[in-house]
Formats: sequence, C-alpha cells, structure tokens
Amino acid sequence: MILQRPLFYALLLWVTLGCQAQPDPASPQSHHSPDGGFVNPYATHESEPGFRKLMKWFWEREKPNPSDSIISRVVPRVSPDYQTLHLPNSGDIQVTWLGHSTFLVQMEGMNILTDPIFSDRCSPVQWAGPKRLSPPALPLDSLPRIDLVVISHNHYDHLDRGTVEHLGSSARWLVPLKVKSWFQDMGIETVEELDWWDSTRVGDLKFVCTPSQHFSGRTPFDRNETLWAGWAITGATQRFWFGGDTGYNPIQFKNIGTDLGPFDLALIPIGAYDPRWIMKNHHVNPEEAVQIHLDIRSLFSIGMHWGTYILTDEPIQEPAERLKLATQASGLSNDSFITAPLGKTFRIPVSPTAAD
Ligand code: ZN
Ligand code: ZN
Repeated sequence: MILQRPLFYALLLWVTLGCQAQPDPASPQSHHSPDGGFVNPYATHESEPGFRKLMKWFWEREKPNPSDSIISRVVPRVSPDYQTLHLPNSGDIQVTWLGHSTFLVQMEGMNILTDPIFSDRCSPVQWAGPKRLSPPALPLDSLPRIDLVVISHNHYDHLDRGTVEHLGSSARWLVPLKVKSWFQDMGIETVEELDWWDSTRVGDLKFVCTPSQHFSGRTPFDRNETLWAGWAITGATQRFWFGGDTGYNPIQFKNIGTDLGPFDLALIPIGAYDPRWIMKNHHVNPEEAVQIHLDIRSLFSIGMHWGTYILTDEPIQEPAERLKLATQASGLSNDSFITAPLGKTFRIPVSPTAAD
C-alpha cells in the first residue's frame, strides 16, 4: 500500500492539477467543444505540459521537509460565534471561512455553502491523497440549516462525496453543466445544472453561473466532460461572487464586472499556483487574484483555496503574504482584499454604490 501511494499521488495530481483544457481553434469564443465536452476560450499560456512533464515535476519536486515548523502550516483561527451563525439572517451578508474554498454565506434569510469539503483528504479515497492541515472551522453537524450549495466544478477539493452524502437532498444544489448526473447517481434530485451566463431564482436571490478558466475531471478518463464555473448571487440590496478555481484572462472577469458587478463581497482563489509553467492557465497567483478583484469591481474580497491542503509547490503561508503586497502595489487599501481567520464571521454592510 505504501509503495503504491507515490504513483497514486502522481495520478491524482495529474487529474486535478494537470493542464489539458485547450481552446478550440475552430471556435475560439465557445466553451462547448464538438465532442460534447468543454474548453477554455481564452487560455493564453502557450505551452501545455503533457503527462510526462508532469510526472517529471512530481518526482523531482522538493518534498516538504518534515521538520518544517508546524507553526508554518497553521493558518489563523478563531472560535466561531455559534449563536450568530444560527440566528436567522435577514440583514447584511455574513460570511465565514470554513477552510479551502468552503464558505458559509448568509444572505437574505438563506444559508449558502460554497464548494463544501469537510473530509480529511481531497481524494477519491481517504487512505491517500492531500490531507487537511487543520480541521474545518465548524464540524459539519454544527452548521446551521443549509438551504443551498453552489459547486464550481468536480475536482475532489471542490466536490467532496462525504460532504455531499451528509447534506444530501436536504439542500438545494446548483452545479455547472453535466455535473447533475453525478448527484443523481447518489440518489440526490435537488440539483439544477446551468451553463455559463444562465441564471435561476431561489427565494429572493438570483444565481448566475459565471465563466471561469479551469478544467474538470475525477478520473483519467473524464477530462473536461463537465463544465467549470463561478457563481454570482444577487439579492435586493447586495451581491456576492464566488470564483471557484480559475486562471486569469483579461476578458471573462471584466465581462462579469460589467454585466453583474459591482460586488459587495467576492471570494477569490489565491493559492495552488506554483510552478507557473504547469498552473498558470488554471490557477491564479495572488497578483492575478487582485486583478480579478479589480476586473469584477469587488468592494471587498476574501482569499480562498489556500492554507488547507498542500496541492502545489508554494510555501503554505506565501499566498497570504503575497496577497498583502499585491493589494498594496495596486493602490488598494489593506482591508479591501484580505485573508480571513478560520471561523471568523464578517458582516458586509450594504454599500451605497453596490445597489446601482
Ligand atoms: Zn480544480
Ligand atoms: Zn481546487
């Protein structure tokens, strides 16, 4: 079993971090590929490494030093305010980071989860694969009632079977195209799948499936058969955007900002970006994350997809450190794009400009 683990890891990294989503040269503006799958219409990074180069990287990459201080692996954490989280929310947006890309967003009386993962490992199995550095801010059974979950794509760190089984049909699920059948196979029918720019209404909120630049797959055989996306959620007075996993291009985020912004709150990935020759097309670095914040016209953003699982080569704390520098370099105030302590609830007041 132990000897099989390195090969298992390598395959898992190839499935979830590899780079295969190429633009379709015959139809550069469409994300629908003729074979029924999906492509990135605006991926510009010239070379896409193949399986051999990825394996070479995997075997040669520096292994984490076991004596590397335990402290450097821990992200800030506070005790959650259970009472506030369980009160019915009908005022300003409340947002709490639970770990990785999982947030509890409470808005207009609705409790929403983003890409919930509560399992120990983001992997098809729980005996191997990237392991959590710290537990979720709240245990799954301490969450308030969950009304709705948005899913960005089907990679293991975003679509976690154990969590989905726990929440089941008691929640409503919004997923990108072709992800619905995975839920139906588990007997969950409260699922709606949407294409980019499609929208649906749940209660008083409008949910828009927004474009991103990424890829999908849970095995070596289903590459890009299902869509990847972000989600914009619009209420009567406030809006927020959840970015999922994405690389940067100068078109899609500007379009989101023009059509749906400005946003009172945005959740933007800042981690899993090194080495750039592998990750650039599909994972932004903190500097590109700041550019997304500007493109979508976010008034307040929180960095996600860092500090929870070691997926790539950058040091654990680096995304947060680089985000601070990138925010300053862009002339933004320090509190406009932050990293949040696990478990801390932020209240986002209605902005006079966001409700235009
Ligand atoms: Zn992904
Ligand atoms: Zn991810």
